Amino acid sequence: MPAFSASDSNSANVQDLRLAKYSFGVGDRFAHQAAAQLRACMLASKDGIEVVPVWNKSNREHLIVGSKPGDVRHAAEAAVQELGWSGPFHVDADHITLQTVAAFLESSDYYTLDVASAIGQPAAAGAAESFVARHPEILGAVNLPGFETPLNVPQDAAIKSAEKYLFAVQEAGRIYRRIEATKGKGRFITEVSMDETDTPQTPAELLLILAALADEGVPVQTIAPKFTGRFNKGVDYVGDCSCFENEFRSDIAVIAHAAGIYDLPGNLKLSVHSGSDKFSIYPAIRRALRDFDSGVHVKTAGTSWLEELIGLAEAGGEALELAREIYAQAFAHREDLCAPYTAVIDIDVAGLPSPQRVFSWSSGEYTAALRHDPKCPAFNPNARQLLHVGYKIAATLGDRYLDMLDDCREIIARNVTANLLERHLKQIFPAAV
Ligand SMILES: [Zn+2]
Repeated sequence: MPAFSASDSNSANVQDLRLAKYSFGVGDRFAHQAAAQLRACMLASKDGIEVVPVWNKSNREHLIVGSKPGDVRHAAEAAVQELGWSGPFHVDADHITLQTVAAFLESSDYYTLDVASAIGQPAAAGAAESFVARHPEILGAVNLPGFETPLNVPQDAAIKSAEKYLFAVQEAGRIYRRIEATKGKGRFITEVSMDETDTPQTPAELLLILAALADEGVPVQTIAPKFTGRFNKGVDYVGDCSCFENEFRSDIAVIAHAAGIYDLPGNLKLSVHSGSDKFSIYPAIRRALRDFDSGVHVKTAGTSWLEELIGLAEAGGEALELAREIYAQAFAHREDLCAPYTAVIDIDVAGLPSPQRVFSWSSGEYTAALRHDPKCPAFNPNARQLLHVGYKIAATLGDRYLDMLDDCREIIARNVTANLLERHLKQIFPAAV
């Protein structure tokens, strides 16, 4: 399987842990769906689509669910053993900072260094000017491979960008070195994320950020910029798909250029923090991967938790009753549940069905409202977003919820696998030719 061979690297240590060309962050709120998720990758592989699974979970999710970082590895390893998966897999400490990294040092082999909150903080006096003076190659007309229009960066704009991003890059260096001190060089995959911020980074800014990461000695294998448009949780992309496509293609070209001229890993690629289910931009991503022969990491979280609810509703009886009750509680606590996610949800409260109505829903009505089929008239994106952030309700139900997952294991697994395979993997990643 060529996609799984170690990628080349500028700093050629063959022992280094390398992220494959195509990888997919599956997430798994309650650590019950790892096998069903892995099965989706195995079925994709049968169709010639080689995707490495990455189980990602952020500190925020752990706090809400009450789980521990080690639980994620546990679930992943059990699934790998159960299905006899011989390809690579990784466990991603998602969105960690200097404050939260310690708890993830043992169990993860993939770290997403979140430096979004450090953007705009001042670096040392004169640091931006001397950075730009050291990097004349990012100024003026910069030609990008496979791209007709060169970037054009005047010196004052570069200094402004350096002022905005240098401190954040230095923060990535601090987190990286903290992990390296414990795990050792080359023993883990590094992602840098800047997506949880207000303004998208331009391709020119991405180039500057990559030059600075190379200077800082951060061997970044995948980088998550903020893209144009809204990436609301669990529902489709909101924005101009052609703007996204242009930006995505420029970013890919910047990455190929940067990996060629800086001391950065040769497998460097973009990471898309999708917030799950950005169906309308998947064709653009797929076209770009084909045209540029580029890799990508696409991260989801929560799409499988919603399939758990769909499976419970489909099972009927007590399981359907529990799914209705979770909606009713999510509705009652909607303000608290939505608070940590206000930047990434858009719920029209008037469009939420009342709990009374949901209590009368049949299996078919519940699943039609929740299942992400934008063409289905009964699909309700408001209810879907509310339930997406409503996993805390299931967490507070504890064993009552988890036991029901076990009781309905097969029907849920079928939904989890089909969702990832048909709606995500087959839509994003090209098959090997
Ligand atoms: Zn993110």
